[in-house]
Amino acid sequence: ESSCKHNPLSPQSARDLVASVDVFLFDCDGVIWKGDKLIEGVPQALQSLRSMGKKLVFVTNNSTKSRRQYAKKFLALGIDVSEDEIFSSSFAAAMFLKLNNFPHGKKVYVVGEEGILEELEFAGFIGLGGPEDGKRNIVLKSGFQFEYDKSVGAVIVGLDKYINYYKLQYATLCIRENPGCLFIATNRDATGNLTESQEWPGAGCIVAAVCGSTQKEPILVGKPSTFMMKFLVERFQIDTSKMCMVGDRLDTDILFGKNSGCKTLLVLSGCTSLPALQDPSNNIYPDYYTSNVSDVVELSKL
Ligand code: PLP
Ligand code: CA
Repeated sequence: ESSCKHNPLSPQSARDLVASVDVFLFDCDGVIWKGDKLIEGVPQALQSLRSMGKKLVFVTNNSTKSRRQYAKKFLALGIDVSEDEIFSSSFAAAMFLKLNNFPHGKKVYVVGEEGILEELEFAGFIGLGGPEDGKRNIVLKSGFQFEYDKSVGAVIVGLDKYINYYKLQYATLCIRENPGCLFIATNRDATGNLTESQEWPGAGCIVAAVCGSTQKEPILVGKPSTFMMKFLVERFQIDTSKMCMVGDRLDTDILFGKNSGCKTLLVLSGCTSLPALQDPSNNIYPDYYTSNVSDVVELSKL
């Protein structure tokens, strides 16, 4: 039974994959790096794919950095990647506003970090909030009125390692009280590898806090939403059947690829183990799985 649902990448399937795919979409954490540590063999594999004429795109749900900051991280790790090959959920949030003609006179309240604020600025929007916000003393005495900006037309929520009660009240009031205020989530990952050896609470728990107080559901712009994919397809003018999504998480990366008709490859170098893939409770099946990105190139040579 498991042999048809779960296909290890073989030399033949690796050659078929390389021959039939024009664009490889790579998830970052767990595929390219783990925290700040490069995964073995990755730069060489990427270089080989480039020399075969493949287009490489990097799609990360981690909203704490902007594309500019990710380009710096790639460079520091010795991988030559340009900003316009990077699609972070922070960038997706700013692009969502732009493509939906969000008025430039309205403001955006951010429960999140620098990456979102920087992408908003690059897109010409006014961002409020961010990591530094809410270090004020709230004194809940009689007659106290929480002051917030009535011209906030969107709230973007991503991972915020400096989350506090002030920010939750700010976001909640904007979403509940400002007419038509958008509630956007960069991603809903349950956990993230903030360090190489441990998982930490991800954006999902911060988004859930705002869902809890507003009783509203956000618009998701990161994986597995199709927003990012539509954006990629339009930008590169390439059919999804010629794309392969390479990722380490089933409910974000593999689902993202499958939802749009891409080929999908699960690598076991990140958060999903082989037993987890094969567990009967899992119903998301990648086309292939393998241990590491470098297998794609190495196996195709055999
Ligand atoms: N969000 C945060 C805060 C993370 O730390 C991570 C991974 O470490 C992610 C999201 C997932 O990122 P990616 O989509 O690159 O795997
Ligand atoms: Ca990942």
